Amino acid sequence: MSELAEILEPTEDSIVKIVAALSLGDVVALPTETVYGLAAIVGDGTALRKIFEVKARPLLDPLIVHVLNLPSLRDLVDVDEKCFDRVRLLADAFCPGPLTFVLKKKKSVPDIISAGKKTVAIRMPSHPIFREVLRRSGPLAAPSANPFGYVSPTRAEHVRTSMGDKISHILDGGPCEVGVESTILDLSGKRFSILRPGAITAEMIGNVLGEEVEPYRPFVAADPSAPGMLKQHYSPHTKLRLFQKSVKEIIPDFWENSTQNSAAIYLSRKEMEPQRMAIGKEKHIFWLSEDGNLNEIARNMFALLRQLDTMQFDSICCQVPKKDGIGIAVGDRLSRAAAKF
Ligand code: AMP
Ligand code: MG
Repeated sequence: MSELAEILEPTEDSIVKIVAALSLGDVVALPTETVYGLAAIVGDGTALRKIFEVKARPLLDPLIVHVLNLPSLRDLVDVDEKCFDRVRLLADAFCPGPLTFVLKKKKSVPDIISAGKKTVAIRMPSHPIFREVLRRSGPLAAPSANPFGYVSPTRAEHVRTSMGDKISHILDGGPCEVGVESTILDLSGKRFSILRPGAITAEMIGNVLGEEVEPYRPFVAADPSAPGMLKQHYSPHTKLRLFQKSVKEIIPDFWENSTQNSAAIYLSRKEMEPQRMAIGKEKHIFWLSEDGNLNEIARNMFALLRQLDTMQFDSICCQVPKKDGIGIAVGDRLSRAAAKF
């Protein structure tokens, strides 16, 4: 495909067009509340393979299936009543929303989705446009719509920039509200565990279940329970380095050296702006939120990393938020993004 993908406004005509493309075996980019996804119909093996090709994603990295509601989820899994009761409890509390369940799969779920595992990851997204497509298309497999390993997309334009030459349609649903990928909760074993942190934390899940949930453990090499959770991921091309309180932890002369061509991302504008104004280093300083709100930080993180990645800095230095709520997920993505440098 040589022309760049068309970005479609979220109208009835666009939804009809998108659903027709899916049913003809195409892959399309759709907005979700977490990040933009690259979707294909669950039963269409050729389209599923195309997802891996477009993303250059290894086949051992399984896909998340997106469904409209609990009955559709149940159609795909082979779980006992007790397990399903837990899913129901959590779904009542958090779904539709950014929570993915890993459950024993039915044989009918294609192996390419589960990377040959006996489990499948499923979630019910809340984005109204994605839901409207799901209502008409049935379950969709949809990983994030970015080239494998690169920063996730939270705007339609991000998808067009990084894979617009490989797909034909991107449905625009505006900027993603959550901004980081869903929490992945493994309910398939004896102990319940978080495989990937997101907006819904282990504590929130434990409170609803009234049972212990193993909090997220940062990447353990070759952990077979979390295929695809690679130490290096979400990386910009520009070198990324992390700091806790001040960029001086990694670049001691950041403020003094006028030839320094690094960008610093701080978490809060309020904390940063007085210092920036006093020193006059405007074009090198950025922030993720007005006053440190973690949801705002999560919502803006990937977009700012992508923006700075086009600005020819030698390096990007980013402040890491506290390990609280969605801050755990932001810290996880940032440390993976910085891991290759
Ligand atoms: P993405 O859709 O790009 O956000 O990535 C999906 C991630 O979900 C994969 O990289 C895996 O880490 C995880 N995942 C999907 N299916 C399973 C499964 N059956 N068991 C464990 N983790 C899974
Ligand atoms: Mg991804």
